[in-house]
Amino acid sequence: MVYTYGPVPSRRLGLSLGVDVLPYKTCSLDCIYCQLGRTSNLAVERNSFFPREEILAEVITVASETNPAYVTFSGSGEPTLNSDTGWLIREIKSKSGRPVAVLTNSSLLWMPEVREEIKPADLVVPSLDAATEEVWKKLNRPHPDLDFSKVIEGLIDFSNEYAGQLWVEILMVKGMNDSAEHVKALNRILARMRFDKVQLNTVVRPPSEESALALSYEELRAISKELSVNTEIIVPYRKKGKQVSAHGDRERILAAIARRPMTVKQIEQSLGIPPERSKPALEALVAEGKAKPSIHEGETFYEAVR
Ligand code: SF4
Repeated sequence: MVYTYGPVPSRRLGLSLGVDVLPYKTCSLDCIYCQLGRTSNLAVERNSFFPREEILAEVITVASETNPAYVTFSGSGEPTLNSDTGWLIREIKSKSGRPVAVLTNSSLLWMPEVREEIKPADLVVPSLDAATEEVWKKLNRPHPDLDFSKVIEGLIDFSNEYAGQLWVEILMVKGMNDSAEHVKALNRILARMRFDKVQLNTVVRPPSEESALALSYEELRAISKELSVNTEIIVPYRKKGKQVSAHGDRERILAAIARRPMTVKQIEQSLGIPPERSKPALEALVAEGKAKPSIHEGETFYEAVR
């Protein structure tokens, strides 16, 4: 599995087969809360990073074996930086028959071609963490060539042009974007957008910077009341997955935790590998220097060592 991971438990999508179309870690932003660590390749140039036929073939094979609820473009950075994204969305939809979701940080939606390419997706989840340039620079640390006003106008334009499901994600970080004043600024942007849902999230996995602190559920609820639209607070995914054979446990776990830090419980839910098998596999990966544990909000997450 070179370009796919999971299916992983998504708090939004249920079981989602991730498609990773970028070399680690290529992004137009360097968010302080990023679960992938710091952005090593801060980029705004779009590129065809890998042979697109190879990506397509792997997605079709894995999707037919795992039957995910969504095939989701996400992974090692901002998926719209891959210039084959539009072709891949169309081909995956027609050849796998699975719904396609795109998680985007919104930073390239000011480009008309990017907006056109992702329109065939069934679901787009764009981020809107910052309503002011000052917060954007502190929280999302954008590529210097990006223009905040253009990015916001691109997001607003896309929301009004797109006919599929649009779920806006706002990730709240304590002391960064949770002030009453900033929430009012978010309201002004949301008032100009068309969307199906607004989802409030917070720092639920080990962040790139320790200064990225989570809000409590109560704090998120208070903010959701201040927002002038109905919001959903994303809750942890709980579905118990079916167990599969021990063959390839270590490789499957390593492929999954290379894309997102996971707990033993999440590995069971998403990969169907029970703790009595995942724990020895994780211990071996840690001993070999391929994985490392970290504690976040009292839970132990495992992530791949790069
Ligand atoms: S959170 Fe997403 S947008 Fe932000 S740096 Fe990480 S991959 Fe990029």
